[in-house]
Amino acid sequence: MGRNTDIIHSVPVDELTGAIAVPVYQTSTFVQEAPGVHKGYDYARSNNPTRTALEKIVAQMEGGHGAFAFATGLAAIDAIAKLLSSGDEIVAVDDIYGGAYRLFTHIYQKFGIKVHYVDTTDAENVLDYINEKTKLIWIESPTNPTLKITDIRRISEIAKPFGALVVVDNTFASPVAQQPFTLGADIIIHSATKYIGGHSDLVAGLVVTKTAELSEKLKFIQNSSGGILGPWDCFLVIRGIETIELRVRRQSENAQKVAEYLATRPEIDKVYYPGLPTHKNHEIAKSQQHGIFGGVISFSLKDDTVEAASQFVTSTKYFKLAESLGGMKSLICHPAQMTHASIPREKRLHSGIQDSLIRLSAGIEDAEDLIKDIESALSKVKTQARN
Ligand SMILES: *Cc1c(COP(=O)(O)O)cnc(C)c1O
Repeated sequence: MGRNTDIIHSVPVDELTGAIAVPVYQTSTFVQEAPGVHKGYDYARSNNPTRTALEKIVAQMEGGHGAFAFATGLAAIDAIAKLLSSGDEIVAVDDIYGGAYRLFTHIYQKFGIKVHYVDTTDAENVLDYINEKTKLIWIESPTNPTLKITDIRRISEIAKPFGALVVVDNTFASPVAQQPFTLGADIIIHSATKYIGGHSDLVAGLVVTKTAELSEKLKFIQNSSGGILGPWDCFLVIRGIETIELRVRRQSENAQKVAEYLATRPEIDKVYYPGLPTHKNHEIAKSQQHGIFGGVISFSLKDDTVEAASQFVTSTKYFKLAESLGGMKSLICHPAQMTHASIPREKRLHSGIQDSLIRLSAGIEDAEDLIKDIESALSKVKTQARN
C-alpha cells in the first residue's frame, strides 16, 4: 500500500453509524452499566473516542506503537520530560525550540535535571557530553530558524550503548519528509499546530512512542498530568492529516523555488534551506528527508539591520507577518523582533540569527506569486536604502 492510501484509510469509518468523518465526542463522561462495566471509556481525560482515533492515526503514520495527543506542542514536550528523575541529564541540540529551552532550563533544572546544549550538526560532539546519567538526547532537524540538520541515524548509534532515549522533535520536517523511527529514534514529538494541523486554526501537540513500554509510561503521564487535547481539536487535527501529503509536498516545492530565487539576488546575504546544495548538511538532509526539504526558509539581507528587515517583512502581500509556520497561507517573521526577541542579541548572533534574518513559511499558493511578492518587497528595501 502506498503512503497516501495508508494515511487516508487510517481514518476509521464510524462503526455505529457509518459516518465517513470521525465523530466529535463532545462529552465529559460515559454512562456505565454497572460500576466499572463500560465500553472502554469512563472519563474524558483518560480516554475520548475522537482522541483515540487521532492517536491511532498518528501512531500508524509515524510507524510507532502508540501516540498521545496534548493541548499544545509544549505540553507534549513537558510530558516527555516527566519520564526523568532528579539527577538525570539531557543532551539537547543547541538550537532547540525556544519554548523547550525555557521549559528545560527554567522549570526542570529546578527539579535537579541537567541539560547540556550541544551543536549536533556534527553528531560526534554528543560524545563529549553523553554519560551514564544521560536519559534523553533531544534533537530537532531541521532547526528553527536557521534550518540546521542533524544526522539522526548517527545520533541513535551514539545513544544506544548509554541506554539514552533519542527524542526527535519532528515538527519542521513533518511525518511526510522524515520518519525518525526508521532512523533509530525512540520518541517523536510534534507541535501539531504547524504542518500536521496545517490550517493555522489550532494549537496541539503529539508524542509518538516506539515501544509498548514507552506507550504505557506516556499514557500514565498523560492521564496523571491531564494536558490532553479536546475532542473538537482532535477532529481538526485528523482533518489536517488527511491532506498532509499534498500540502507538505506543495509547500516544499514552493520553498525550493523561493530559496533558489533568493540565492540569485544581490540584496541577499545568506540563504538557509536544506534543499540548496550549498547547505552544510544538504546530503544528510537529502537522505533522511527523502528529498523533501520542508516549507521553511530563512535568509539575511546585505543591509544587515533591524530596519531593513522591518521594511521587508511589512512589504509583502501574500506572506503574512505572523509567528508560527506550516499553514496553507504563507507567513513571514522577523525572529530578532518576534520569536527570538527574548534571547539576548549576543546569543542570537552566536546561533546565526543576524539582525536582518527573516524566516519564511511557504504556503500552498502559486510559487510564481510568492516569488513576485518577494521581488516587490526587495525593491522596497532598496528604495528605502537610497532615501
Ligand atoms: C511551535 C513549536 C513547538 C511548540 O509547540 P506549541 O504547539 O506552540 O506549544 C515545539 N517545537 C517546535 C520545533 C515548534 O516549532
